Amino acid sequence: MTLMPDFTPDLKAMQADLHALARIESPSTDPAGIARVMDVVEGWARDLGAETHALGGGTRLFNFGVHSAGAAGAGHGQTTPGLRGQDRPVLVLTHADTVWPHGTLDHMPLREDGDRLYGPGTYDMKAGIVGLFHALRSLNGEWPAGGVQVLLSPDEETGSLSSRAHIENAARCARVALVVEPPVADTHALKTGRKGTGSYVLTFTGVASHAGNKPGEGASAVTAAAQAVLDLQALARPDLGTTVSAGLIAGGSAVNVIPAHCRLELDVRVSSLEEGARVDAAVQAWTPPDARVQRRVEGGLNRPPFEQGEGTLALYAQARAIARELGFDVPSAVVGGGSDGNFTAPIIPTLDGLGAPGDGAHAAHEHVRLDRWPDHVRLLARLLREV
Ligand SMILES: [Zn+2]
Repeated sequence: MTLMPDFTPDLKAMQADLHALARIESPSTDPAGIARVMDVVEGWARDLGAETHALGGGTRLFNFGVHSAGAAGAGHGQTTPGLRGQDRPVLVLTHADTVWPHGTLDHMPLREDGDRLYGPGTYDMKAGIVGLFHALRSLNGEWPAGGVQVLLSPDEETGSLSSRAHIENAARCARVALVVEPPVADTHALKTGRKGTGSYVLTFTGVASHAGNKPGEGASAVTAAAQAVLDLQALARPDLGTTVSAGLIAGGSAVNVIPAHCRLELDVRVSSLEEGARVDAAVQAWTPPDARVQRRVEGGLNRPPFEQGEGTLALYAQARAIARELGFDVPSAVVGGGSDGNFTAPIIPTLDGLGAPGDGAHAAHEHVRLDRWPDHVRLLARLLREV
């Protein structure tokens, strides 16, 4: 394996590119804002000679040195499943959406303070996209065997409903997936596993009646929901990594009415498919003790668990060895939050957390660590070249 000459990322240029992306607000609910972010990134991709493709539903795919010959890939920029081993591309997953609504920049503007660049969507994950393109540029057109395929999802933050099929198709044709979501805050650890995530909405419909005069004629939807909270949260198995939390509940119409309606939302995280199936079966089967209360269940497991496989651990070992050559260490971690890596990990080795170091994802103090960022871009550049 040839060592590429080390490269020194141009931090000032990365900061400018990050400002350019982050000043375009792109909540998951706004396809136009997301498209504007993607247009900027597509411009960078074209400058590097990429073939660019719109895959439908707002997902875009940029191919760098990818062999896309073959019927299955024609017109969609996807490679063929027939390609083997080193002929398959390295897939890089990114997303252009953020959790921040329009107008957030008015009260949470982009700003730099010492070694930190603050702002909505910076750490998660516009800095990941910027770092990726600086890493790609450093390769000077010498793409790894099979090339590099960069996928931009428009809806990662809301579960990738429109991009999931594109991500899974791309993974089936690729040899590894690198995800430029941020590393873990503080430790800057790469992510070698993630819990599977699910959510449920339970709607209860009971019978209203006067709370003082005829309580016995009513059937309380709130009582049923309260019992469901206790029973369903008890499905948690922290020893196995399974959590169940009733995060939202709303019901009733007036304090003196036996409530006929209640709505409950559950957040579920699991470390294995077996646990996902166990919790799902129990949620679907739960019925209110009072048979007069109807319940409806919507939702399910949205992202499968990203289980730490051998291929992923080998990728991490390679990344760690590169980091040590570059003069720093990168730990690894298995985390609770999901990403699009959850969709590729069951198919190909997947290494996540290759974006920009920082802290405060989805929080008011969201920021990128400018002092640590260049090291992670150097690591990504080497990994893209040598993986
Ligand atoms: Zn993200």
